[in-house]
Amino acid sequence: MNEIFNPEYETMRREELRELQFKRLQMTLRWAYENVPFHRERWLSMKLKPADIRSLDDLVKLPFTTKADFREAYPYGLFALPLEKVIRIHSSSGSVSNPTVVGYSRGDLSTWSELCARVAVAGGAHSHDVAQIAFDYGLLTGGFGMQAGLERVGATVIPASTGNTQRQLRIMRDFKTTVLVSTPWYAKHLVEVAPEWGYDFEDLQLRVGLFGAEPWTNRLRDELEERTGFTAYDNYGLSEVIGPGVSYECWNKDGLHVNEDHFLVEVVDPLSGESVPDGKEGELVFTSLTKEALPVIRYRTGDLASVSYRPCACGRVFARHSKVYARSDDMLIVRGINVFPSQVKAVLQEVEKAEPHYQIVLYRERAIDQMEIQIEVSAAFLPDAVKKLQGFQRHVEERLRQELGIRPRVRLVEPKTIPDYPEGAGRVIDNRDLGPGSTE
Ligand SMILES: [Zn+2]
Repeated sequence: MNEIFNPEYETMRREELRELQFKRLQMTLRWAYENVPFHRERWLSMKLKPADIRSLDDLVKLPFTTKADFREAYPYGLFALPLEKVIRIHSSSGSVSNPTVVGYSRGDLSTWSELCARVAVAGGAHSHDVAQIAFDYGLLTGGFGMQAGLERVGATVIPASTGNTQRQLRIMRDFKTTVLVSTPWYAKHLVEVAPEWGYDFEDLQLRVGLFGAEPWTNRLRDELEERTGFTAYDNYGLSEVIGPGVSYECWNKDGLHVNEDHFLVEVVDPLSGESVPDGKEGELVFTSLTKEALPVIRYRTGDLASVSYRPCACGRVFARHSKVYARSDDMLIVRGINVFPSQVKAVLQEVEKAEPHYQIVLYRERAIDQMEIQIEVSAAFLPDAVKKLQGFQRHVEERLRQELGIRPRVRLVEPKTIPDYPEGAGRVIDNRDLGPGSTE
């Protein structure tokens, strides 16, 4: 049984927790009302003021915040603090459409590191550990959040970042890594290729995997644990809410505990927006209770899960949500990075200066996500113009890489090989499964 990082909060009584949540909610709503015109104007148009929210149940009176609101408010429109008080910015990828920009005050970074420390300790990490973080260290939140959390626990952190599998394995062996932080599918990739580079997981010191940023099944967990001897834990988060550290698994591995002293969780019907009963699947919605720079009110995540308030064997009071396997919108998760088909379309329109005929095909190669964009080549390119075609292909690949933050393969295909999609339909063929057991 692993320890609990902050038992005072993680195991407090539910009545006390609800009191604390309501007090913090009132503060957050006043803070947002006074400092974010976006929220103030919308609430006023509904004749609502923070004082009208008299209990936690009244929260449903307030409007949702969506990813579209973030894009419209680009870059700083949802911030409640002037930049002078904001000491960190993170952002999603993208330049054709506005990316999602988030900011943190000094206090927010402190909160975030505590929440990620809870994730790490719930997975059994402690100060003696050597933690290798194989998340992208760019504008995305994953690497920075987990690094701060593990440092707070006192672990020795190696910011290995992504890619270069051979080097990752070498670091793992030579630096005596005991905790791996990555996406679950990257972990599977490491396990699969290790023997080819002469590494044996049995000889490595790894004992804990803290995996997040993409969907995976319990069967994939079983497979990883059997093949490596480490124990694997799921964690969940998204940058709009704070980044990693929103929820996490304990040793019981029966749902992810939401850090409820810092976030209110709701589950709503994705179509009607109405609350669904406990235990029924719907869209996860979060309201921050302590954030200063960027309070979020009823943020619709697009992630589908159910929530349970049943007590957990680990002793934590926090509600648990089921593992997230699906989304309510067309967002794709490719190697842990969020991609919208609309980004691909926008790049192709920009390059081709006309509506291209294309489709997106997703598959895995040795557990690594691959994204292929198939484009029908118009009659403007004649067969003898091979050089021109290759140049075009490379140009599109590079533009897509800049836009998406991952490099897709571009394949040019002959006219009339891609089916005609109805207007507005997702041109996506996803051949990836969720892992062993996903069809059960
Ligand atoms: Zn638990």
